[in-house]
Amino acid sequence: MYELPAKARALTAYKPLSGTYRIRLDANESFLDAPDWLRLEIAKAVSELPFNRYPDPYAVELCRRFAAFFGVDAQYMVAGNGSDELIGVIIGAFCEHGETVLTVSPDFSMYAFYAQMNGAKAAVYDKQENGLMLDAERLIAYAKQQDAKLIILSNPCNPTSLGTSRKDILRIVSELSDRLVVIDEAYMDFGEGSVLTEAADYDNLIVLKTCSKAFGMAAIRLGFAVSCNQLTDAIKAAKSPYNVSAMTQAAGCVLFEHKDYLMDCIGKIKDSRDRLFKALWELGQSKAQVKEVYRTTTNFVLLHVDDSEKTHQALKEKGIAVRHMGNLLRITAGSEQENAAVTAALDEILR
Ligand SMILES: *Cc1c(COP(=O)(O)O)cnc(C)c1O
Repeated sequence: MYELPAKARALTAYKPLSGTYRIRLDANESFLDAPDWLRLEIAKAVSELPFNRYPDPYAVELCRRFAAFFGVDAQYMVAGNGSDELIGVIIGAFCEHGETVLTVSPDFSMYAFYAQMNGAKAAVYDKQENGLMLDAERLIAYAKQQDAKLIILSNPCNPTSLGTSRKDILRIVSELSDRLVVIDEAYMDFGEGSVLTEAADYDNLIVLKTCSKAFGMAAIRLGFAVSCNQLTDAIKAAKSPYNVSAMTQAAGCVLFEHKDYLMDCIGKIKDSRDRLFKALWELGQSKAQVKEVYRTTTNFVLLHVDDSEKTHQALKEKGIAVRHMGNLLRITAGSEQENAAVTAALDEILR
């Protein structure tokens, strides 16, 4: 009889929210779906693909267009099947068994998952004592003390919605110059402090980007890693050869030809985010249960709420899905109607 090894037994599958909800504000997706003209352009590009051939393993044309959009050089880029895949590839390739991966808490849960999968030791820097803000000096000291070989964090942070300054990020990279620093900028399109255009100037920095949030393309699974040649070559060598499908490459190529459309999407999402923050902040003033509404530099708003589990359930019963973590509720900015609905529902539920 075959018995699963301990490593496989310890795994639990990622469970997205089950059930159907009128309003989905739980996964930080864009509330803007692709318009018809974009769908048609993508459909045409996909219809012309040679389906019997493998895709370009290095997604050269796609990287060229992404690079032009962000003002970086395409030679410093690797495309991934979502940035999620790249996180797994990077931790797998750059961390030896038993070495320490440093994550911060709270942060995106997949970092610790891939570290565990790859037999890394986990060191966790806790942001609770500093109002969920990252203290760069203390992080640097902790990374050295723990002898972490790889430090990975999101900026702006999911789920705190808070950003760390460019200066602090570059200080972390410079002072930990003999360790790899991975900065996940999944939400940077909504915030400030990007180090994307400087990524290739450092030999120990990788910056991650995704098309799943600001660009409203979570369905196609597309992300990028930007880093110097030495790191880029290593990531290319470590990934599976045809990781980004020809259909995704075609869709991504179309997408990055439409700078005005993408900038317009970002503007609309930021407006929605600002309005949702204001509405929830005002609501919080009159509700004793609401301990904090965090300032946001992302496309979601984070609330610290007493009885958050009950609140989460009550929202679900009203057909509204948000993300619940400990005593925090994370609410993605939606359409005007969705924001109004979640605000009204919370007004009814909260004391
Ligand atoms: C959503 C998210 C991702 C996932 O991006 P994909 O490209 O869809 O895999 C990565 N990092 C953070 C911090 C996220 O919130």
